Amino acid sequence: MILKSSYYNICIDCDDSDATIIFNTLYGSMAVFEAEEFSRVQQILKSPNSDDYKQIKKNLQELKFIIPDATDEFAIIQNRKQCGVEDKNRLDLTIMPTLNCNFACSYCYEKHITSSMDAPTSDALLKWLANEIPKFKYVIIHWFGGEPLLEIESLIHISKAIKAIAASHQVELSIQMTTNGYLLTQTTIEKLVGCGIMEYQITLDGGEAYHNTLRTLKNGKPTFERIFQNILNLASFSQTVIITLRINFNHTNFESIPELLHQFPHDIRKQLRFTLEPIFGNCTINAIDNIDNAEISVHLSNYYAIAKDLGYDVYHALKLIDTGKLVYCSAERVHQYIVNYNGDIFKCSVGNFAKEERIGFLNAAGEFIKEEIHYSKWLKRNNFEDTCYPCQYLPVCMGGCRKARIENNGNTGSVCQLVPSNTSLFIKQIALKELHN
Ligand code: SF4
Ligand code: SF4
Repeated sequence: MILKSSYYNICIDCDDSDATIIFNTLYGSMAVFEAEEFSRVQQILKSPNSDDYKQIKKNLQELKFIIPDATDEFAIIQNRKQCGVEDKNRLDLTIMPTLNCNFACSYCYEKHITSSMDAPTSDALLKWLANEIPKFKYVIIHWFGGEPLLEIESLIHISKAIKAIAASHQVELSIQMTTNGYLLTQTTIEKLVGCGIMEYQITLDGGEAYHNTLRTLKNGKPTFERIFQNILNLASFSQTVIITLRINFNHTNFESIPELLHQFPHDIRKQLRFTLEPIFGNCTINAIDNIDNAEISVHLSNYYAIAKDLGYDVYHALKLIDTGKLVYCSAERVHQYIVNYNGDIFKCSVGNFAKEERIGFLNAAGEFIKEEIHYSKWLKRNNFEDTCYPCQYLPVCMGGCRKARIENNGNTGSVCQLVPSNTSLFIKQIALKELHN
């Protein structure tokens, strides 16, 4: 059989030793070689059909660093992407019961307007879902806003109705929520958990002083103390609750992240899914314009390692090098929708939700009426841009943000530059067993 080296082998030098890690971004295989052995490995990868170093070659074949010449690796990636985009098993639905918010975060990109989902719209939504949910095996409902807890009564009413539809058709259901956490009183926690909302994303932007400059109430008052206590109450209420503890960082707050990590009691850390996101968008305090890309990756990998040591769930760190990834983000999936409080339907949660950008809307009969121009803009485009075809990180990235691709006409966006440095640093940590065993 004629062999070739996989196009997706990347070699990463270990800074503190003469070892080299080889990682394959398509198959997820990894091996670490000392300098002398690595020079043999390089020879084999250069001439995979030579008979030299048979045992090493056999190992490299088993790990798919060397593959049959006939393998069309790009076709594997295209197929994965297509499966993710068209996935008929899973419905992803984000519901925004309001665009209003009680916070005035300095980096927020949303326009907060007084708004709420009225009874006719929630009826239309439930009629639509009564038809849609039975078509799928797995349904993910995500409450988002604005601040969804400003509309607690309609949120509970809709969640219970969705739960009943899913149960009557034996469809697996997960209900999640992104909230600023401020309104999570004990009574609200009981209601939410009672109707099956078991996964939450709550943001604390570093230590108290830093958080309180970035995330204040509309009247300027601080929010840290109350959110922190509410997170403790939510985690203690049920051990099956999972909280994604999101920290948005930039040049002003990243040094305070360890302080926050030490503040949570040990016994709830395993329920806290630590995730770090550079502040993005057009605001002047975004991380991308204020911190060097390589430095962002170093912060990410160091803080994930600290979080792992302290007993937090670091699932999101491992997702950064997920070699089974199907799409860049769920907005690429055909069966993914964001329903606004007024029944307008969108794809991406980062935006202003202007009517002219909607991909469709729900009519009173509970039918999804497509607006073809915008629908096609999102869903009828190539899976990848030209810049992605030669990229060795394509299998762990899957093509970059679709919104950026649409808006920049084929440009994959600034976060693209983070993929190689993030991957290398996380691979090093995994190879050195800091994040994963
Ligand atoms: S978006 Fe960037 S990192 Fe991702 S596959 Fe395309 S070129 Fe590679
Ligand atoms: S901004 Fe890009 S990555 Fe984020 S949700 Fe929208 S399409 Fe997805």
